[in-house]
Amino acid sequence: MSNVHVLPVLPFADNALDPVISANTLSFHYGKHHKTYVDNLNKLVTGTELADLSLEQVIAASSGRADKVGIFNNAAQIWNHTFYWNSLTPRGGGEPPAALKQKIEADFGTVEGCKQELVAAATTQFGSGWAWLVQDGGKLKVVKTANANVPSTEGMKPLLVIDVWEHAYYLDYQNRRVDYVNATIDRLINWGFAEKNLG
Ligand code: MN
Repeated sequence: MSNVHVLPVLPFADNALDPVISANTLSFHYGKHHKTYVDNLNKLVTGTELADLSLEQVIAASSGRADKVGIFNNAAQIWNHTFYWNSLTPRGGGEPPAALKQKIEADFGTVEGCKQELVAAATTQFGSGWAWLVQDGGKLKVVKTANANVPSTEGMKPLLVIDVWEHAYYLDYQNRRVDYVNATIDRLINWGFAEKNLG
């Protein structure tokens, strides 16, 4: 029986992130971009040996395969966007919860140092991509990935992510990616979600 990939329900109302991320941006980003990746993947895997696999299995099976680039890109973008929505929360930002804060201070010195690395990764990713807080061999790190790429294919465990594709911010911030990134980290970032993802 083939597995139908579905667009997950947003964890907040479409105007809940306003004014940092407007309802207009969310309507396109979630309702058009994220949905299109789901529709594309369902079309691409139908009738192939990947049709029965879960989303995570499709990502693992298509990663690095020259003949499966389209499948990988759409599958990874579904996963990345779901992870991004969960990395945001209407009353986010502020101080991380105690267990995460302790690990951040151990690996970055200060919470501010971690935030600065996230801003640097998000603003220096050339073109489309993602800025991540990950756990790598027990240590927290900030990494960036291009296009649809996911840290899990490199053996790293994602804790949270910021989307830096232009479609994530252009309607609200135009070219000012740094303003979108700073506002998102200061007001929306869901440290509690990151803590739950600690291995
Ligand atoms: Mn996006």
